[in-house]
Amino acid sequence: MISPEPTGGDRPVQAYDLMILGGGPAGLTAAIYAGRARVQTRVLGGTLPGGQPSRTAEVDNYPGFPDGVGGGELAQRFTAQAERFGAEIVPEMATEVDFSERPFRIRSARSQYRAGAVIVATGAVPRPLGIPGEEEFYGRGVSSCATCDGFFYQDREVVVVGGGDAAIDEALFLTKFARTVTVIHRRDTLRATEIYREQAFANPKIGFIWDSVVEEVLGDKTVTGVRVHNLKNGDTSMIRTDGVFVYIGMEPQSDLFVGQLELDPSGYVLSNARQHTNVPGVFVAGDVQDPNYRQVVIAAGTGAIAAMEAERYLGKYP
Ligand code: NDP
Repeated sequence: MISPEPTGGDRPVQAYDLMILGGGPAGLTAAIYAGRARVQTRVLGGTLPGGQPSRTAEVDNYPGFPDGVGGGELAQRFTAQAERFGAEIVPEMATEVDFSERPFRIRSARSQYRAGAVIVATGAVPRPLGIPGEEEFYGRGVSSCATCDGFFYQDREVVVVGGGDAAIDEALFLTKFARTVTVIHRRDTLRATEIYREQAFANPKIGFIWDSVVEEVLGDKTVTGVRVHNLKNGDTSMIRTDGVFVYIGMEPQSDLFVGQLELDPSGYVLSNARQHTNVPGVFVAGDVQDPNYRQVVIAAGTGAIAAMEAERYLGKYP
């Protein structure tokens, strides 16, 4: 372990072997491996305990759960397992990092840290449409979390924007509550996996508006409709709706690392096959480095690799 530093500024500096930035499947799996290797580890878990699975109704494809598992339950299981091996998980967000000197420096709103090694596992966040009304009505009819907000749409009408796995998975979930679920997609073919397509086409509550984009969210106190533009025939129409669920992909949470780590043009952290970033001692795992797969099992796998490489770097793993 690195020896503690004298108190700096108004906040004492806390020293750890390993700091893990992010408490989703990647960060928590890294914490399980680091804990079992007796690496003194703190996880800055951020504001969404358990990460993205917490926002997902059902995870059907994580091995070991033949009947599927609730996203929230899976997140809790990851957390409990990491804590069992001694990881300290705190609900803090890293606000500043300095990887130019060793031990590395990390700050959150309430603490400052020094660490011998760092694993970046800050994940990705839902991409916004960037249209008028979207931000204004966020939380008042616009959402990117059906698991969190679906319940409020009992017997109401909702639209889902997007055609990928997330959009169709959540559209299916919303049919538990809503009277109708209208999927608005910019093409005439879904990107979603075949099993989701089959289920969505067979569900009488789900309808589709193809080849169309949402141009504006309309409302007064809450959402009342959307303005939709058909890309094929140029028509514009108003669709009445009580809720707008946006699932058009994700953006990596990497702003903090601009100028510190090499990123690709879309903001994903670049790494080699062993999860090393361009800075020795800083490793990366999960969706913040994965533009392609974004699966819980892959986030967990890269978290395990990152932790084993961090152990090796710290001299704890030959
Ligand atoms: P995807 O990138 O797979 O899909 C995004 C969808 O949004 C596409 O249909 C895309 O259209 C559409 N889109 C993108 N930008 C816009 C825009 N500006 N306006 C309108 N539509 C837009 O993202 P997902 O979040 O669905 O999935 C991300 C990853 O997570 C995938 O790898 C997916 O497999 C995985 N995932 C898996 C789940 C599961 O297996 N249970 C559940 C959820 C996610 P177009 O098709 O035309 O490009």
